[in-house]
Amino acid sequence: MLSYRHAFHAGNHADVLKHLILIEIAQYMAEKPAPFWIIDTHAGAGRYALDSAHATKLSEYRDGVARLWEAKGLPKAALNYLDFVKMLNPDGQLRHYPGSPWLARQLLRDSDRLRLYEMHSTDGKLLMECFKGSGREVAITDGDGFAGLKAILPPPPRRALVLIDPSYETKGDYTAVVKTLQDSLKRFSTGTYALWYPMLGKPESRQLPDKLKRLGAANWLHATLEVKAPSRDGYGMHGSGMFIINPPWTLEKTLHDTLPTLATLLAQDAGAKYTLESEST
Ligand code: SAM
Repeated sequence: MLSYRHAFHAGNHADVLKHLILIEIAQYMAEKPAPFWIIDTHAGAGRYALDSAHATKLSEYRDGVARLWEAKGLPKAALNYLDFVKMLNPDGQLRHYPGSPWLARQLLRDSDRLRLYEMHSTDGKLLMECFKGSGREVAITDGDGFAGLKAILPPPPRRALVLIDPSYETKGDYTAVVKTLQDSLKRFSTGTYALWYPMLGKPESRQLPDKLKRLGAANWLHATLEVKAPSRDGYGMHGSGMFIINPPWTLEKTLHDTLPTLATLLAQDAGAKYTLESEST
């Protein structure tokens, strides 16, 4: 039984990191005329109202996107990200936040396709609602995104960005993401894979980056953004990471120029910091 609802967390520091990177990758892919797919294995509801009961309960967006919304002198990639958030908030009031499916849809051209998976029935219905009236460019599957990805790879155009963004409600997600990437690389080694993970005190979270580096991918980029020091009791999320396999060659420099500002702006205490590492063989 899944209980995670992304509406409680929409627009938080983790969404800022994840969505900024998603936009950068998709825009890079759209620079070449050949079609591509975006596959979002854990789609959520598509978009979120920040004044809903869910979002206001924790108001995580206030320490996330809202801090950028108010800021001046942002780096280019942060301004680019905010441009998409502004599309949903044309009156200048931050009331709506785009989920990865909504963002991905804005980044598609006519020849590109979006494939979405969502297992939670409530968010699945909201996702359908979000894409009501869409044509065959968007396909939504009510089911397991790990199994869905396995069935869909390699995608017909042989160009794709796969976003893997589980809720990590159970330990099983930590093993599933490693196994899914292992299997996906066998089926479609040239795909771009962007995996999000939470930085928690739990051993499975702390051990995940090393497992990802040992997958044997020839090219990867790993970015983390910590907004506070880990808690002494080991509870709570103090940051998050994005592990990107086959990233655009431009992304490392973009993040190098952006993460220092994000770490400063989104800091909740003196423990805030970022890391950026890569391997290319
Ligand atoms: N990617 C979304 C975004 O950035 O806007 C947020 C996704 S949220 C972190 C994770 C979502 O995955 C939740 O909506 C949850 O219901 C869903 N979920 C959990 N396990 C799943 C699975 N095995 N397959 C598909 N969806 C799943």
